[in-house]
This record gives sequence, structure tokens and C-alpha cells, in this order.
Amino acid sequence: MSSKCGGCDYAGVPYEKQLQKKQAEMEKLLGEFGPVLPILPMENPLYYRNKVHHVFGRDRSGNVFSGSYEKNSHIIVRTEHCLLEDEKCQEIMKTIEKLAKSFKLRIYDEFTGTGLLRHVLLRRGFKSGEIMVVLVLTSPILPGKNNFVKALKAAHPEITTIVLNVNDKSTSMVLGNYNKTIYGPGFIKDTLSGCTFRISPSSFYQVNPVQTELLYDTAIAFAGLSGKETVLDAYSGIGTIGIAASRKAANVISVELNGDAVRDAVRNAMENGADNVRFVKADAGEFIKAMAAEKKRADVIFMDPPRSGSTEEFISAAATLSPSRIIYISCGPDTLARDLVVFAKKGYRAEKIQPVDMFPGTGHVEVVSLLSRTEGTTRAR
Ligand code: SAH
Repeated sequence: MSSKCGGCDYAGVPYEKQLQKKQAEMEKLLGEFGPVLPILPMENPLYYRNKVHHVFGRDRSGNVFSGSYEKNSHIIVRTEHCLLEDEKCQEIMKTIEKLAKSFKLRIYDEFTGTGLLRHVLLRRGFKSGEIMVVLVLTSPILPGKNNFVKALKAAHPEITTIVLNVNDKSTSMVLGNYNKTIYGPGFIKDTLSGCTFRISPSSFYQVNPVQTELLYDTAIAFAGLSGKETVLDAYSGIGTIGIAASRKAANVISVELNGDAVRDAVRNAMENGADNVRFVKADAGEFIKAMAAEKKRADVIFMDPPRSGSTEEFISAAATLSPSRIIYISCGPDTLARDLVVFAKKGYRAEKIQPVDMFPGTGHVEVVSLLSRTEGTTRAR
């Protein structure tokens, strides 16, 4: 495991020790808001990343290689063998390096802005085994495309779809806006918490499926649903939490900003027979503010914002909807702590805080917190 790539801060730290460190950190950061339960560990904390992204480069002798950026820099560190990335995906990445060379693909050079192949993104359905290859290019034209597809499929018949993504901008974003499917359906499917989900190239999907089930099951258990509730699933991605929760709720409204993710979510609800879930493509803060202005109600709110956390606008409107429970799922405990201060001012406190080890080998921790209304702040409806 290389600590140079900036991916695994806990390289070489025994797993038990990693868990102790994370537990201590979470208690220090979040303990003042409510009881921090013991972190849920991963049984086998290796090769769990089912989303593998590599940047492509050329060394001084002209050989194609792939890896990650060195921490805080744009120097590419070759990935020889990573203990976190799915092993099948690592094999495919090596094959693509070889094919890039034999097909004489021009590798993108960040400094001159020339070349074709920039990144490769692989996603593997943990239960389905389906594999998506996304080749991020500066142009939609891949020379020798049909033979490239044939050679890649011959080496890895388990690949189910190949997509060209065009990113011709000078940006640190990996994916551009345009996708062209050159093989298969353009998405993969996977199963989580008993539901099947469709995943497109740019839709968010958790990277550790084993721990994600644990995360979702914890979140849904915290919600204590009886079947009668109106639920809001904010920052809903491809609809995973809302769809899984819909079986135990009267109805669910899911709100998400990314259009591709919303399209996946609508399909996912249909395929899982979840006809009591409605999807809205909007900014979660604006949407919930409008709900509050229209005096709409929600009994339970799930919120799963990106690492940057939520906003005062969202939190304030969430409190106005006056749900009895809010389940806040966070991949950024610092921003969670910041947001819990705002929630406390609005009359919501953390009843329990459950860290989940979603990212073994790294310093990141995922946290599910159950917030409920403190006595005396019940609002009239
Ligand atoms: N709950 C989902 C996704 C969580 S990731 C899951 O478990 O898979 C966070 C999601 O928030 C992403 O899908 C991202 O596109 C979305 N997002 C980011 N900012 C947003 C905003 N302002 N309003 C709504 N959704 C947003």
C-alpha cells in the first residue's frame, strides 16, 4: 500500500488500531452533541473499493501507466498494487494500460493540454458482478474503437458496459458532461439492502457496498418507521435510502441535484416496485425551504449531504417541517459537528451517533446520527 498516493493515511496501521483512532476522534469531535456508539467495523477490510479511478500518464521512456495524484499535487503516482481497490478492477486497469500502448492512444498531458486519454473509471457491482468501464477522453472519437472494445472484452468478458466520457476542459473534475456508450447498456446494476439499483457513470454510489448495507440498515432502523410516515430523503443520489425506506413508510419524497442520478432513481423505484416514492431534481435547501413555506409536513427526514455538509437554509427549513426524527448521514464529521450546532439552536439534539467504518485504511469515517426534537419545541401544525 503506498501512502504517497494520498489515498490511505492509515497505511500500515493495524486494523484494530485504526478503529480505536477513529473512535477516539469521533468521541472528541461529536461527543458533546450526544452519545457516540462503538464504530461498526468491516469484517474483511481489504479490496473493498468497487469504484476505481486512475489518472493516465506516460513515464520518461514513453510507457503508459496509471495511478493517483500524489497528495496536494498533480504528479501521478503509479499504482502497482492497492490494498483497497477491487482486485478485478485493478487487473482491468493494467489491461487498459497495455491496450493504450498497443493502440497508440495519445495520453493527455495536463501541462500542454494535448492528448486523448485522461482517466479511467471502473465500477463493479458487488452482488451483480457487472462492470462498467468509463474512458475519459478529450474527444468523443476513440481511434480503433471497435477493436479496442473487442480486445478489452476478450481479456475481461465480465465487463458489461463501456462508456466514453468527454472532458476537454482544464479542470480537476474527472468526468465531463457528455457520455457516449460504445458497448452494453451504459450503466450497471447492483443490489443493496434487498433492492436493485441502476448506476450511471456520473451518479453517486457508495464505494464500499458491504459497509453501505450496514449504513443503510442502521439509518432505516434509527428512523423507527411504522408504515404511516411521510419521509423526505434529501441528497438522495440514485434513490437508495428512500427506496429502501419506502417499504416501511406511507410515502417518500426524494430530492437530488444531479439529473443523471435522478433519472437512475426514477428507474430504480420502478424496478423495485416502490410506487410511493416521488423524485425531485432540485437543490435540497431550496426545495425544503419551499416545502416549509407551503406548510407541508414530514414525519422523518433522511439527509445525506456531500462532505461539505448541509446549509443553514436547509436546517432551518427542516426544523420548520417539524419531523419527529432526522437521520443525518455524514461522510464529513467536521461539517456534521458544524451542522449539529445549528440543529441544536433549532431544537434538535443527537440521541445517538453511530460511526461506520466505510473507508478502512484511510482516515475517513462515515457517521449516522439520529436527531430528535427536544422537549418543549414541538410545533403546532
Ligand atoms: N444518499 C445517496 C447519495 C449521497 S451523496 C446515497 O447514499 O447513495 C450526496 C448526494 O448529494 C450526491 O448525489 C450529490 O449529487 C447530491 N447533492 C450535492 N449537493 C446537493 C444539493 N445542494 N441539493 C441536492 N443534492 C445535492
